[in-house]
Amino acid sequence: MAAPQSPQSILKDAFQRLRDSVTPSDALRFDTTELKDVWDAAEEIQKSQRERQSLRALGRIKPLLDNLERYSRVIEVLCNGTPYLPWIWAPIKLMVQLASNHIKIFEMLLDAYSQIAWAMPHFDRLRGAFSDDENFKVIMAMIYSDILEFHQRAYKFFRRKAWYKLFESSWKSFEGRFGGILANLSKHKDMLMKEAIAIDIVEARRWRARAAEELDKKEKERDQIYISDTLAWLNVHQEDQDDELHRLLNRRQSGTCHWVFRHPKFISWKDDTRADRVLWMNGIPGAGKTILCSYIIEKLQHESQTTTAYVICNSYTQGKNIVSENLRSLAAQLLRANRDLVPHAFDNYANKSLPPSITHVKKLILDLLNIIQETRIFIDGLDEYSISQQRSMLTEILPFAKVSGGECKIIISSRNVPDISNKLKNRPLISLRDEYSGVEGDIQNYLNEKLQELRERFEGKDRETKDILDLVTLKADGMFLWVRLILKELESCYSMAELRKTAEELPKGIEEAYGRVLRRVTEEMNPKDYAKAIRILEWLACSCRLMKMCEVQDGIVFDADNLVLDDETKLSPDVLDICKPLIEEGPNKTIDFVHYSAKEYILDRVSGPLLQEARAHYNIAFSCITYLNTAVCFLPPDSSAEDAVLTRVAKGFHGLHNYANEYWFQHLLQCAQDLVDLDASGVMDAALRTLRDGYWKGRPGHTAESLKLDDTTTANEIYEQLTIFRDLDHVRQMGTDMQTFRAHLVQERHAHEMAAKHHAYELKHDPTHFSQISHRYQEVVLSLLTCQLDDVPSSVDQKTLVEFRKVYGESEFTCRFHDCPFHSDGFHTIQARNDHELSHVKTLRCADPTCEFFARGFSSKTGLLKHNRKYHPSPDEAQLPDFVPIHVRPQSQGNGVRQSRKCGRKEADGAFVSMTVIVARYS
Ligand SMILES: [Zn+2]
Ligand SMILES: [Zn+2]
Repeated sequence: MAAPQSPQSILKDAFQRLRDSVTPSDALRFDTTELKDVWDAAEEIQKSQRERQSLRALGRIKPLLDNLERYSRVIEVLCNGTPYLPWIWAPIKLMVQLASNHIKIFEMLLDAYSQIAWAMPHFDRLRGAFSDDENFKVIMAMIYSDILEFHQRAYKFFRRKAWYKLFESSWKSFEGRFGGILANLSKHKDMLMKEAIAIDIVEARRWRARAAEELDKKEKERDQIYISDTLAWLNVHQEDQDDELHRLLNRRQSGTCHWVFRHPKFISWKDDTRADRVLWMNGIPGAGKTILCSYIIEKLQHESQTTTAYVICNSYTQGKNIVSENLRSLAAQLLRANRDLVPHAFDNYANKSLPPSITHVKKLILDLLNIIQETRIFIDGLDEYSISQQRSMLTEILPFAKVSGGECKIIISSRNVPDISNKLKNRPLISLRDEYSGVEGDIQNYLNEKLQELRERFEGKDRETKDILDLVTLKADGMFLWVRLILKELESCYSMAELRKTAEELPKGIEEAYGRVLRRVTEEMNPKDYAKAIRILEWLACSCRLMKMCEVQDGIVFDADNLVLDDETKLSPDVLDICKPLIEEGPNKTIDFVHYSAKEYILDRVSGPLLQEARAHYNIAFSCITYLNTAVCFLPPDSSAEDAVLTRVAKGFHGLHNYANEYWFQHLLQCAQDLVDLDASGVMDAALRTLRDGYWKGRPGHTAESLKLDDTTTANEIYEQLTIFRDLDHVRQMGTDMQTFRAHLVQERHAHEMAAKHHAYELKHDPTHFSQISHRYQEVVLSLLTCQLDDVPSSVDQKTLVEFRKVYGESEFTCRFHDCPFHSDGFHTIQARNDHELSHVKTLRCADPTCEFFARGFSSKTGLLKHNRKYHPSPDEAQLPDFVPIHVRPQSQGNGVRQSRKCGRKEADGAFVSMTVIVARYS
């Protein structure tokens, strides 16, 4: 423990803390404010309020000012030769002046001041009694410290942008701390009432330290609740976006992208307050827009004044409400970067049981943008969305640039496509096409770096090599992607002549480059490999989310001739190499196209089209369903063959489980229109019948009837969606069960349940075996990931187990909430999964952060309503006689009728009831 502080050093610390937290001009003002100035200001306010027929100021602030005056006489000696004294009262003047135009805030402030006055000791009785006593001086200094702490914390709420909008929620979040300050004051009062000699200063210090610690802890807990509840309300899973940004940043060649910070249009967007706040960056596919954008984001993230928020658009958005998702993500990013705004979001949105609809989230974002000084929003790759999504994104996002409170600037990067161009044509534009010098320099850098080995190969012929690389740069025509596609061709040149010839014959433009790569994939391959290549591309082009390598590798095994995945049919992971460089490995063992445009190319007429979407979905659906038919082994009685099942999983025969389980029906829907034609051979029909027999507990289509949906819209939507299977009754019925049950699970009434309870409910009510099989599958995976290496059945050798952990260990623990991206692509440990799941549970909380039931929360709305009725009645409901005695209440001003909100909360030491509401107005 530190040495006990002298009274002088207590004063100095308190003074310094407050002084450091106010603006220099306010500090100057405080230095010279006299108590009389505060009186004058209060009188002034009173006068103007009298004109407005309201009388609030003077009477209620009088006790505090009187008491401060007496207090100042006591500590004057201690403050001799210092600037400390005026700071006891000077902030009061500033705050009452600022608050006087906002009646409710003014009320709250005056209420706080009267509480302080009541809690403070009565100096008139004390004056001169034991002014030389050292203990007495310490107590006096502590009181100074308490008062200044109040000023310091309250000042923060007044001196920020649009402070009055945030005041109520901030003040509410301050109540716990304020209660602590009051408790301190009244404790000191108690001590002073005793003889000075009896003051146990050691105990007083200890008590103070303990109370401060307790408050810090509580405040931390409360802040955690604010942020986690608010993020849960927004239902955002930022992990995805962060990973993506990180991946993009890693792909940037060092030395590239700097040019943009020297670009006049960029500089004016960034720094000029009068410039257009929206900047459009466009370029052809593969020009490096995304990398450039991620570079700018990263740079600006390091500027302390600026809040950045971004959306990296990608095409895996089928069936999602992408606009709403993106808005929620933006709101979450703004809040994460501005934690002091979280209480506002919590109070006005998250804890109000409002749905996180576009309307509400947009309003929240506007609130935030009006307060945050500088915000920079990035929407990258907008053209990857469908046309209607592009339009609605722009409609929702562009108005953000118009806020007047803060300064919100937006960069949108995309290809030059008509719908975006129409909306942005009058905005400043950086077209990467025009930035030859910048982009070309970057490409040269990139080539030099990537072809390091080649240059070494031709050492001594630097000049010729350089000429050839210059030619390649010229041909690249500003397209990074093109360079990535042709690198391999250059790398495989071993003579100067070869290199020169290859460089001269390089394909022109992205499409030709794709064409050439594809020809290599398709024409120069044997039919067996060709079939595999097509299946791989189908999976990547039409999957519902980003795929893992092992999933694609297993997915392409199933076809009409092969319905099993076992030792005989399992493919080696190298199989994916046949599609390179059209596809490439991503983070977390994922695999994707080298660029979005590659996917477009192979689905486009230019390429044939190489793939037909309906057939791709048909093939994927078939793989999923056929896989699922092999997964019935997880059901009893088969699961009694425990070891066999464990072995199958360890050998990687069930790696497709999470994906197939989640998306099989989605893919079936996508090819429903052509299903009858596509399935001329009847293999799909057979697979579906096997699925029905293996998975349905009862008769399909009827089991769902017992499940209630909150709204008929959802039921109708499901019915509408399934009419596409009108000729296939059994499929329609299976679909009804599937979709109804899923909709049932994500309903509001399940929103407050903890994951385990929710999962138990799912297992119990699922009309099919899907839940149970997945549950069992995860249990098996868990045992394989956590068991001792030699603690597995003899049929699994250690090498297999180690390999299993390496390939599948990263993401097998899926989130148990259905409307979550991690439902089909999970976490690497149960703990990580459980932590994540907490973000789904929308806790219903008491709105009073000092109430015990704020932290505890309620599991049902009824519970919360009951609690509110009993402990937090609205003023009309309040039973007036229910007073709680307050320690000392000065006779002169007993007009404020106080009522404690107790809610089972333990009172602070000193029995001072700190949290009070004014029920009857002071008059
Ligand atoms: Zn989740
Ligand atoms: Zn409560």
